[in-house]
Amino acid sequence: MKNFAQILLSWYAVHKRPLPWRDTQDPYKIWISEIILQQTRVAQGYDYFLRFIKRFPDVQTLAAASQDEVLKYWEGLGYYSRARNLHAAAQSMNGVFPSSYEGVLALKGVGEYTAAAICSFAYKMPYAVVDGNVLRVLSRIFAVSLPIDSAEGKGQIKQLAQRLLDERHPDDFNQEIMEFGALQCVPQNPDCAQCPFKKQCKALQNDKVDALPVRAGKTKLSRRYFSYVYVAQGPYTYLRRREEKDIWQGLYEIPLLQSASPLAPEDLCRLKEFKKLFGSLSPRLVCAPLKHILSHQIILASFYALTLPAKKRLPKEFIRIKKADLKNYALPRLVQKGLEKAGLLAKENA
Ligand code: SF4
Repeated sequence: MKNFAQILLSWYAVHKRPLPWRDTQDPYKIWISEIILQQTRVAQGYDYFLRFIKRFPDVQTLAAASQDEVLKYWEGLGYYSRARNLHAAAQSMNGVFPSSYEGVLALKGVGEYTAAAICSFAYKMPYAVVDGNVLRVLSRIFAVSLPIDSAEGKGQIKQLAQRLLDERHPDDFNQEIMEFGALQCVPQNPDCAQCPFKKQCKALQNDKVDALPVRAGKTKLSRRYFSYVYVAQGPYTYLRRREEKDIWQGLYEIPLLQSASPLAPEDLCRLKEFKKLFGSLSPRLVCAPLKHILSHQIILASFYALTLPAKKRLPKEFIRIKKADLKNYALPRLVQKGLEKAGLLAKENA
């Protein structure tokens, strides 16, 4: 299509949002912003990015930090493997950010999209980015009928994007097309009447805007039932680091009991694991089930509290900490929320 890049450019000149990572060519900062934005909305990611960059301004600082501290700065953003990968990748760089596409792509947690974004924004290399926004925009303008969650559909759009890319200004082109998807060609009810592509857009011409992009199938969400137990022992409480390959690896949580179905409070103390930890102590419900939705699962978590006798200790995997220090540990957002609701943890910024 002739003029594709020009149409985008004129639209962007009017609609561009000023974002702190837009005016930098520092590959490190671009990398951090891209990883934050992988699963986080711009509005939420903005503050996290600023705080993260302030504490870890370069590869060396990030590599030298502890994983606990990196996770603490990521707390609340979710998808914690992103933070663990960032940290591991920083440690693998020997203090120098890679300067080739292959080197960037080889970093832990970096896929083709992120490598293209970093290399085009920082080094002006001619790699077209293909994220969810680009998939939607191009599948509509060119009426791509293959599912965008299939290898064929993605491949076709990747080729299109690469063909359309303005190779003299790959950085601008990539920013423009993603911004266009984020603000103009939005998933629901895009304002096609005001769109600069309305004459070229095949989806609009064929009345298929709502039907595109096509998706092969949605992932079914599994359900998990969590019962968290806040343990009070004078000024102390107990935490455990999640070591297993599961959600929230590396974060801390209060004792957790999992069950295959929802549990009534009186059923919790009948669980074998509960008896092993707490004997015949009785927990009291302090926060009714909270629903927490992740990409592939829904968690329903109830929160309980109990008082542990002074002489008793929980097994070694649990660490005993001062209650007042709880806020210094990186906790999953769900745990923070439950404890806040139960009045066991002060709200941040409150
Ligand atoms: S005309 Fe509508 S569907 Fe087509 S690109 Fe513009 S906003 Fe998207």
